[in-house]
Amino acid sequence: MLRMSVFRREIPPTNGLPLQARDFVGRPHQSLTQAVQQWLHLPNEPIITCSGSAALMLALEVLAHREPERDEVIVPAYTCPIVVLAIARAHCPRPLKIRLCDLAPESVNMDTAELASVCSARTLAVLATHLGGRVADVSAIKAVAGPHGARVVEDAAQGMGARVVAQSVGLAGDVAFFSLAVGKGLSTYEGGLLFAKDDALHERLREHAARRLNPNLFWTMRRRAELLGYALLYRPAGLPYVYGRPLRRALQAHDEAMAVGDTFDRSCFPVHRMDDFRQRVAANAFERLPAFLDEAYSRARSRISMLSTISGLRVADDTPGVRGVFPFLMVLMPSKARRDRILDRLWTSGLGVSKLFVHTVPEYACVGPFLPQSELRSYPNARGFADRMFTISNSAWLDDDAFRLVFDSVQAGLA
Ligand SMILES: *Cc1c(COP(=O)(O)O)cnc(C)c1O
Repeated sequence: MLRMSVFRREIPPTNGLPLQARDFVGRPHQSLTQAVQQWLHLPNEPIITCSGSAALMLALEVLAHREPERDEVIVPAYTCPIVVLAIARAHCPRPLKIRLCDLAPESVNMDTAELASVCSARTLAVLATHLGGRVADVSAIKAVAGPHGARVVEDAAQGMGARVVAQSVGLAGDVAFFSLAVGKGLSTYEGGLLFAKDDALHERLREHAARRLNPNLFWTMRRRAELLGYALLYRPAGLPYVYGRPLRRALQAHDEAMAVGDTFDRSCFPVHRMDDFRQRVAANAFERLPAFLDEAYSRARSRISMLSTISGLRVADDTPGVRGVFPFLMVLMPSKARRDRILDRLWTSGLGVSKLFVHTVPEYACVGPFLPQSELRSYPNARGFADRMFTISNSAWLDDDAFRLVFDSVQAGLA
């Protein structure tokens, strides 16, 4: 097995923006929400929430109270499993029912034919997920959902900064959210941003968030401490303690969902107001974000070209007109066996190679209780992603020499 170097170092699996000491003391030029609004040319100032999941929950609550007869939410069968908990926890006139839709073959997009068969007059919303910074085809989803009167919610948890032509993701659908969780780019340790392009709907979201998110001293103090821990340990010398060791322990216990942090319980989803202090820290860090993402974009471009010289694999890339974000590269292998062979060598090597979501949504034990029986079936194309994909970090700490080690190993795995 490859080990990274003589001294213990660990490259994070995603490209989070590292914090600096001055982020904790400086006065930002602008609030976080104003800065993001200006940067992405959003028509409305986004609403800060305690997590991306909480943002999704609030969005669905507002939509459901407008149209109480609609009670189904359609979710891609390959996504972050906590999305399911966010839907299940929404307080709506009727409990929301989750419907799953398979992906199209070899695609991050849902299969539109299957979507058409799941969509109905009961559909409240369809989630358009910009998986791993790849931009979903929102207009294709709208074309199916629109005639049924269903709304499109853009899950841009991993997509802040991605654009279609010149427009930010999140403005093609009705409502959208970004995540500010650890590892998704800019971070408040946990946090989210929620917005709608329609002014009236955005105002409703704002009012609802103000009512629903109350200050909570315990979570405020806990998240501040966690953010400080992130600032101190999110670096190659700190990550062995908070990422590498728990990863190896989880893999030894054959708990892959734990290894990638995919498991959840109710305590991982608190609902409370984001504190001003963490917003200030993120507003300071934000000043480095656009340049940080540009640099990550160029790095991704050159590494995708390199990887594309290896025949037999495919790297998920932007479609024409799209400039996505690259927290990591998603590499799709021809078979599960070949993917597993590469991960056997690289997953615990400290080189930032990992899996995105280890299972399809219904395969997570923690998700089962929240899904209707009808949805507990197999989703072959989602399964293809879970089985054949691995990710390569796009962190700058994976420098060219370290990337070369990964590249050689992947090439050998396909030989
Ligand atoms: C992380 C993630 C979420 C949830 O965001 P949190 O801020 O962690 O609650 C939702 N959807 C996708 C696709 C994600 O990657």
